[in-house]
Amino acid sequence: MENVVIIGSGCAGWTAALYTARANLNPVVLTGVTPGGLLTTTSMVENFPGFPEGVDGYELMTRMQKQAERFGARTKFATVEAVDLSQRPFVLTVDGELMQARTLIIATGAGHRHLGLENEHRLEKKGVTYCATCDGALPMFRNQPLVVVGGGDSACEEATYLTRFASTVYLIHRRDQLRASKIMAERTLANPKIQPVWDTVVTDVLDVKQDKVTGVRLRNVKTQKESALDCAGVFVAIGHVPNTQLFKTVLDLDEAGYILPTKGAATKVPGVFVAGDCVDRVYRQAITAAGMGCAAAIEAERFLAAE
Ligand code: NAP
Repeated sequence: MENVVIIGSGCAGWTAALYTARANLNPVVLTGVTPGGLLTTTSMVENFPGFPEGVDGYELMTRMQKQAERFGARTKFATVEAVDLSQRPFVLTVDGELMQARTLIIATGAGHRHLGLENEHRLEKKGVTYCATCDGALPMFRNQPLVVVGGGDSACEEATYLTRFASTVYLIHRRDQLRASKIMAERTLANPKIQPVWDTVVTDVLDVKQDKVTGVRLRNVKTQKESALDCAGVFVAIGHVPNTQLFKTVLDLDEAGYILPTKGAATKVPGVFVAGDCVDRVYRQAITAAGMGCAAAIEAERFLAAE
């Protein structure tokens, strides 16, 4: 039986692993389908303290993993399919096999929010993507006009990154002001290759008949005027949805799907703790996720010690 099982391998998961490993609890980290989490798909992280020149997202996560493993954390490249939290030890189904856990730290993070358009889904990986760092350099996007949807830090980061490859990047935002942090917004709007398209939503992605993205249909939400824009790619960066499906019947979630802790990192199930983007709908930063991972680890350690 495991002392501590950590579900998720983003900033929260690895930090929880580091702390519980140093507490001699011999934790196991179940990585999920994206080892390292969403941060591995971003380019430069400039706001993680300790890296004055910035650090590549993938490198940061690899360093966190190595640091946790150095103190004895074990990594299992596996996905949790089901959880039974009705009694202790908790029982997890992990890639078809059962695993027992005395405590559980849920750090499952979040996935990309989709626009919800039928053709967005049909043209996924045929020009529609949710990750500029993963796909931006593909030949199909080189020297082509590209569309980024969204107005937050992610959209700004994606748009800036894509200027390396695109002829023009159109930043389609539903309001006339970016939500992104001031420094990101200013940098984005100052980039001559980025053209903001304000007060506008994407209503369709073209062209399913050609089996690739050739453009988008747009609607100005103030004037209701419809238009079309040619592009070879649509990069959707409109926020995230917490990865909490597994827990929706066993823990309390808010209306957006974020887990509701009872106090600190604790949940209504004694022995189950939460950390990172699956619980945090307010800050959602790498550093806050890491801090929450630390808190969850300390609480798990105290919980086990009290027993
Ligand atoms: P976000 O801050 O929630 O922004 C989402 C953007 O998408 C908003 O501009 C929103 O419009 C728009 N949007 C949401 N749903 C939409 C829809 N259905 N159709 C069209 N537009 C829609 O998400 P994020 O940019 O992914 O950032 C998430 C968190 O990560 C934030 O806390 C951010 O600071 C952080 N982050 C930080 C960095 C960095 O510092 N390097 C990089 C990336 C992300 P409205 O503005 O109208 O709501």
